[in-house]
Amino acid sequence: MQEINAVVAGAGIWGCTIARRLAEAGRKVLVIDSRPAVGGNVRCEIDPETGIEIHSYGSHIFHTHDDQVWNFIRRFTEFNGYQHKVLAHHNGKNYFLPLGLTLINKFFGTELSPSEVSSFMKDERHSTALFDAFFRGYTSKQWGKPPESIDPGIIRRVPVRENYDINYFNDYNQGIPLRGYNSLFENLLDHPGITVECNRPYKLGDFPGVKVFYSGPIDRLFDYRYGELPWRSLRFKTERLNITDYQGTSVVNYPDIDVPYTRIHEFKHYHPEDKAVMAKTQTIIMREYPANWKKGDEPYYPISNEQSLALADKYKEEAAKIPNLVIGGRLGEYKYFDMDQAMAAALKIVI
Ligand code: UDP
Repeated sequence: MQEINAVVAGAGIWGCTIARRLAEAGRKVLVIDSRPAVGGNVRCEIDPETGIEIHSYGSHIFHTHDDQVWNFIRRFTEFNGYQHKVLAHHNGKNYFLPLGLTLINKFFGTELSPSEVSSFMKDERHSTALFDAFFRGYTSKQWGKPPESIDPGIIRRVPVRENYDINYFNDYNQGIPLRGYNSLFENLLDHPGITVECNRPYKLGDFPGVKVFYSGPIDRLFDYRYGELPWRSLRFKTERLNITDYQGTSVVNYPDIDVPYTRIHEFKHYHPEDKAVMAKTQTIIMREYPANWKKGDEPYYPISNEQSLALADKYKEEAAKIPNLVIGGRLGEYKYFDMDQAMAAALKIVI
């Protein structure tokens, strides 16, 4: 192998973006990942029977309002124009999220106009009824504790609107890579200056004298010397059904507490442009069950509270003392990053 002068440890969005920038700046980059394939939790699997792209770690929809990110990513993939809409199934009925006129008028049997909705929602009976129907159960299942004890910023991820817009995200730029997420990663890493080695974990002290960009769990990097950072995990149950369409859309949320899962993903709906896949008389669905995390489980969501954030800061301070080490990504920074935020952070790093 040619001499390398930078190492990227962790081949998710953050790491692959850094690798590409390094290579384009003329550096010889080695990308390593402890998993057998690149892509981190955005990795997909193509079902050999139907051609359906299965998001193995749960649905990923790329969305951003950051022009720099949007311009960068489109050098490596086209998007298919998919716009994300989410249904919530409550008490036997389907409602379009987010909280807007479509949901509110259906739930209360009203015909409120945009100018009426805000005073209607100021009535605590209305806001409480909505919160209890769509957020209390879902949030308790998702986080394993009542909504009052989680960071309120998490629930604020779901937009609130006074119109009929049922787009789940506020970002106009969104979609699914036309040829799939795996091809996005292949294209990002397809550069003569980049070498990739999978099944290769990183240990502190590997590659002495070479700059390392690390996006694995920050506590693991230090052998958990101050303790483990807590995560919320997920389990998935995937099923192949002999019908063309199970739920008519890509994601249905189940906020009711008596349903053990939080949502059902039906992946063929992410590629409505792929008429051959859409017409298949089979579909693949995946039920998502939130789960407690213990060392060795897949970490999905950082559990942010005073104690965990202080612990993460302690590890970050430790990392900052190590020359030639740059930390980033969701696992490295212990932050609930969306894909575009991880990419934006990688585009800002001085390389
Ligand atoms: N949430 C909820 N009901 C829903 C959807 C979301 O209570 O139907 C809450 C829940 O606490 C969740 C948070 O809003 O963790 C953020 O939702 P988002 O859809 O952004 O979660 P993600 O897709 O990142 O898991």
